[in-house]
Amino acid sequence: MKVIFEKSVPGRRGLDVVDSEVPVQADFPAALLRDQPAGMPELSELDVVRHFTELSQRNVGVDGAFYPLGSCTMKYNPKAAEQVAHYPGFSYLHPLLPQLPKGETLVQGALEVLYETERLLSEICGMAAFTLQPLAGAHGELTGAMIMAAYHRDRGSKHKKRMLIPDSAHGTNPASAAIAGFAVQTIPSDHDGYLDVDALGKALGDDVAGLMLTCPNTLGLFEPRVAEVCRMLHQVDGLVYCDGANLNALLGVCRPGDIGFDVMHVNLHKTFATPHGGGGPGAGPVGVAEKLVPFLPVSVVRKRQDGSFYLDYDCPKSIGYIAPFYGNFGVILRAYAYIRMLGRDGLPRVAQNAVLNANYVREKLRPFYDLPYGQLCKHEVVLSASRQAAVGVRALDIAKALIDRGMHPPTMYFPMIVPEALMIEPTETESRETLDAFIGYMKEIAELAKTDPEAVRRCPTSTPVGRLDETRAARQPDLAMR
Ligand SMILES: *Cc1c(COP(=O)(O)O)cnc(C)c1O
Repeated sequence: MKVIFEKSVPGRRGLDVVDSEVPVQADFPAALLRDQPAGMPELSELDVVRHFTELSQRNVGVDGAFYPLGSCTMKYNPKAAEQVAHYPGFSYLHPLLPQLPKGETLVQGALEVLYETERLLSEICGMAAFTLQPLAGAHGELTGAMIMAAYHRDRGSKHKKRMLIPDSAHGTNPASAAIAGFAVQTIPSDHDGYLDVDALGKALGDDVAGLMLTCPNTLGLFEPRVAEVCRMLHQVDGLVYCDGANLNALLGVCRPGDIGFDVMHVNLHKTFATPHGGGGPGAGPVGVAEKLVPFLPVSVVRKRQDGSFYLDYDCPKSIGYIAPFYGNFGVILRAYAYIRMLGRDGLPRVAQNAVLNANYVREKLRPFYDLPYGQLCKHEVVLSASRQAAVGVRALDIAKALIDRGMHPPTMYFPMIVPEALMIEPTETESRETLDAFIGYMKEIAELAKTDPEAVRRCPTSTPVGRLDETRAARQPDLAMR
């Protein structure tokens, strides 16, 4: 059914009870006041509720359906973490409170949350310290790359300009490195989907500033020689960056700092209980090894001898401000609540079940789809629809057919080294029944591709709009109400 946006009827009203104790009064200059009412839509409460409920049902999210979007960790985020983020003592805090005289006493609880979350992430990742300020994963990468640049500058190593990045990396990695001033060089993957260590060896040199490596990599594989790779970089005075957006596979089981990584980011909106999609808000905290601590952005939360907390801006080697205020506090609060809820025993079970679920899907689907890399995977599995593409059904068509079956498609055409890639990340929060239903649909679609490929290419038939010209939809969006 088409959504009608013009529902206003003159004189129609909805009422709300206002319980504010603050008197509403202000002395605006007469020139700024309206002489006509604002011309707002006139609607009853029921009209408004139905309109927004209808719109919300056109939105796909984890709360409504299975959402195996690989590399994105679209897992269910417990509502208990939401509750904590909504505590009025936190959600009504004004970001400028600490700057009032002696204002810190008003926000000790919030500063403690920041301090403790930083400590918890450092412990989970094996890093010396974290900054919670970056507002997204890519922003964390940029922060990390700037810290790497600052470190080399501080040591007088002006010639360290080359950043090595594998061809399977997320596109944000080379973008972040380039914005931070590095020249990016791509390192190929080998036949098993791992970083080609021989090619890396040949690329190493005195001007190499570092390597950005996703762990586990974007094929969902753990690099078996990752510790050796870190040592190779350190031998040429290079730093190793861990793109930790895939931390869901390692949580509580293995720590990037112990492997040899010097700097990393994690995505709170993937691994740590913040829902994501639609552009945020998110958070991409960055962790660093001891030698990089002086370069962290300001401000830094510190604990005094008496147990109180304060924001330290006096950090002479810092890369400076990378975010207004102190990061996305509500997102950090959810992560804090989530980590404390799961605890030392719960965190590893996240990773174990995420890996188990991905391998379950992999084993069940391998008879029906190509599996370019055959080894056990971590939290996600990359299939290829090459077999189906040979009869004219592409990964895109399979994705559309899944939409008709009530499930969000996997990531398609990424990583780019896999033709017709379907990257499936089931996450730990899905039940076996849901996984079986998904596997059943994927089997059914593979069969249909053989018997009636046109039927797959026609999908989706159940959605408000069918196949869009996706390029035009992005370049010339029609955002008018009518
Ligand atoms: C999601 C993701 C990023 C970027 O994170 P954003 O918060 O979307 O900026 C970077 N690298 C990998 C591997 C990711 O999966």
